[in-house]
Amino acid sequence: MSEGPADGDGGLPSGVGRSPRLSIVAPCYNEEAGLRAFADRVLAVARHEVGEAFELILVNDGSRDGSWPLIRRLIQAHGQIRGVNLSRNHGQQLAVTAGLRMARGERVLILDADLQDPPELLAQMMARMDEGFDVVHGRRRGRPGESGFKLATAAAFYRLLHSVSEVEIPQDVGDFRLMSRAIVDRLNAMPEQDRYLRGMVAWLGGRQTEVLYDRAPRQAGVTAYTLPRMIHLAVDGLLGFSTAPLKVAVVLAGIGMALGGLIAIYALVGFLVGRPERGWTSLALMVVFFGVSQLGCLAIIGAYVGRIYNQVKGRPLFLIDEVVSGAPPQSGPPDHG
Ligand code: UDP
Ligand code: MG
Repeated sequence: MSEGPADGDGGLPSGVGRSPRLSIVAPCYNEEAGLRAFADRVLAVARHEVGEAFELILVNDGSRDGSWPLIRRLIQAHGQIRGVNLSRNHGQQLAVTAGLRMARGERVLILDADLQDPPELLAQMMARMDEGFDVVHGRRRGRPGESGFKLATAAAFYRLLHSVSEVEIPQDVGDFRLMSRAIVDRLNAMPEQDRYLRGMVAWLGGRQTEVLYDRAPRQAGVTAYTLPRMIHLAVDGLLGFSTAPLKVAVVLAGIGMALGGLIAIYALVGFLVGRPERGWTSLALMVVFFGVSQLGCLAIIGAYVGRIYNQVKGRPLFLIDEVVSGAPPQSGPPDHG
C-alpha cells in the first residue's frame, strides 16, 4: 500500500479534485498508549467539520514503541489516515515538516498526538479562517498538569524571544495551528535546516490571529521534551530569529575597554609613584572577567557558525522509510463535485 511522492491534486480546481478540504498533521513519538484514543477523537471532530473531505497524517518519528504498527492498523480501519514512517527520530519540528510536505489539504492543522491540544478547537479555528485569516494559532491560556519549572521557563523564554526577535512571534503559542494552503506552500519552500516553525510562520506574515485554549495534561505516555530538548528548541528560536546574541560581544567589548582603561591607568600610576599593586585578587578577577567574556563570545559565534555549517551541508531535512495510505480522501471521480 506504499505510495511514491505525494500525488497532489493534479492541478484540478480546489473542491473538484482529490485535494481534501483539511489535512491534519500529527507528529508521533512513542505515542502507542494514547494513539487510538487520539485518532478516534480527531476523526470524530474532523467528520463533524468537513464530512469525509479530510486526511489525518500520522508521522511516526522513529518511535521505539509500537506506534508504527498501530498506525498501520489504524490506516486499515480508517481510510482517511495516512502514515509516514521516518527513518529515525528527527525531532518534533522535522516530523511536522515531513507531515506538512505530505499534506494535500486546502487547510492544514498541526496537532500534538497526545491530546494536549484539544481537537475540538478546530471548529473555532475553521470559523476564523472563513473570516479571511491565513493562520489561526492556538494560544495557551492555562496549562494544568505541567510542572512549575516548565511553565516558568517557558514563560521566561517566550518573553525573552519576544523582546529580541526580529519578527513578532506570538507568545504562549506552540505548534497547534490551522494554516491556509498558501501559507503551507510558502513554509514548505523555506530551506532552513534548523526549523523553529512557530517563528517561520510568524515571519511569513499574512493575516494571522489566535484562539485561546486551555492546554490539557498529556492523556497517556510521557513527554519527550526533556530539559536538553527544551533548551535546544529555545536556542533554535533565539538564533533563528535574532542576531541579538552577537551584539553581546559589542557590549562586553565596551565594558572591557572601559574597565581595561581604568585598570591600565591605576597600574601605571601605581608603578610611577613607586607603589605597584601586589594583589593576587585583582589579577585573578581580571583574568576571569576577560577570559569568560572571550569564551562566551566565541561560544555565541560558534553557535551561529554551527547553523551556517548545517545549512551549507544541505542535507535532506528528513528521510522517509515508508508512506502508507488507505483509501484516498473524498474518493470518487474528479467530476463528482
Ligand atoms: N514528538 C515527535 N518527536 C520527538 C518528540 C516529540 O514527533 O522527538 C511529538 C510527540 O509525539 C507529540 C508532540 O511531538 O505529539 C509534542 O511532544 P511532547 O508531548 O513530548 O512535548 P510537550 O507537549 O511535553 O512539550
Ligand atoms: Mg505533549
